[in-house]
Amino acid sequence: MFKKVLIANRGEIALRVIRACHELDIETVAVYSEADRECLHVRFADDDVCIGPPPSRLSYLRIPSIIAAAELTGADAIHPGYGFLAESPAFAETCEASGITFIGPTAEQIRRMGDKATARELVASLDIPVVPGSDGAIHDPDEALKVAKDIGFPVIIKASAGGGGKGMRVAQEPAAFAQAFQLARNEALAAFGSADVYVEKFLERPRHIEIQVMGDRHGRVMHVCERDCSVQRRHQKLIEVAPSPVVDQELRERMGACAVRATQHIGYVGAGTVEFLLDETGHFYFMEMNTRIQVEHPVTEMVTNFDLVKEQIRVAAGEPIMLNLSGNRLRGHAIECRVNAEDPYRNFQPSPGTITAYHPPGGPGVRVDTHVYAGYTVPPYYDSLLAKLIVHGNTRQEALSRMRHALDSFIIEGVTTTIPFLRRVIAHPDFESGQVDTKFLERETGLFKPAA
Ligand code: ADP
Repeated sequence: MFKKVLIANRGEIALRVIRACHELDIETVAVYSEADRECLHVRFADDDVCIGPPPSRLSYLRIPSIIAAAELTGADAIHPGYGFLAESPAFAETCEASGITFIGPTAEQIRRMGDKATARELVASLDIPVVPGSDGAIHDPDEALKVAKDIGFPVIIKASAGGGGKGMRVAQEPAAFAQAFQLARNEALAAFGSADVYVEKFLERPRHIEIQVMGDRHGRVMHVCERDCSVQRRHQKLIEVAPSPVVDQELRERMGACAVRATQHIGYVGAGTVEFLLDETGHFYFMEMNTRIQVEHPVTEMVTNFDLVKEQIRVAAGEPIMLNLSGNRLRGHAIECRVNAEDPYRNFQPSPGTITAYHPPGGPGVRVDTHVYAGYTVPPYYDSLLAKLIVHGNTRQEALSRMRHALDSFIIEGVTTTIPFLRRVIAHPDFESGQVDTKFLERETGLFKPAA
């Protein structure tokens, strides 16, 4: 087992990983930017190293600084968390070249799944349904329009290197295609350094269903359970649940088998997520694979009673997967709300500043993954996630009620948060009945206006 793990991240996920390491009797190293001196991950880690000025490209994204910090402190492994360098093949490669274990898949595995256009082709060759679309990236607008017409409108143009809902544009009809294609390419180049895009059929009312997988170095891959992440704003997840209210055991097994087939094919090691769209007729289509731990991993932990981060660390150290789902049946229902420092009634504009009062909800079945405290200043440089509020209930009804009351008693003052908005979404009859698809929030424009 590792002796000392460096966490190449900040915020709640850095704390989450530190906790898992400590429970495994592994020492920890925090890295931080000059804006994060007062962060709790710095306080709770056994060792800490400042890696540069606030902008992430000068700190959390600077591979040489992070490797130097690991060497300086004698860390034998690095956990990348999510975001930042978590899906950088160059980072995974540099870690290995420096004799430090990257807690995650190999650079080659990240590369094969990281480019969405090539991942689609790979998966399609394994007889896993993919959304109808172009074979790989297309560069010529006329050729792309021809492909779009063959697929049938509406279509979505997506960045091959995309993530976080960026670099995507929908074209409802041929007349709108050229502009959408150009916009997607520009956005992709600006956000990911590559203008490569591909074209896919745009499904009208799909649900976003993803399968958690875990692979070990002994060739074993397990699927755990699905998460339903259909509550989205601008293709970004806001609320996630497990299990999905529309996935039965038969569908779960079928989707799980596809997810395992794709991951096993590349000898995948570590935690990963295979994302699908599920249409109204019950057909599902592979969308992409994320080769890291996800923000929403706690809902899976709540319904399986299984620590995914500890498992990531254990399999990276060469141990076999402990997880055995057949002996580990799903228990109850879990819901996660992402609480952000944003103004929901002003287009979700970020609201950095100092938290003047903080009191998290508690009680049975309530979990808060957060790095904030009263007196903490939310810096303007990073994402605006303040806390993940996760609840578990024996039934979906119990989980819903628990979430409603937990949101009501969550006190965060000094910065504007999305709590009032989340409260209204949770209380919406369609969310309660589980009848939501990825366009749900787009239709419910009333939710984006302050309550009368
Ligand atoms: P990212 O990697 O940026 O998160 P994804 O490929 O996971 O992008 O897609 C994010 C979301 O965008 C999906 O959950 C879904 O809501 C929407 N989306 C993506 N592709 C399609 C599609 N073909 N049809 C309808 N919606 C889509």
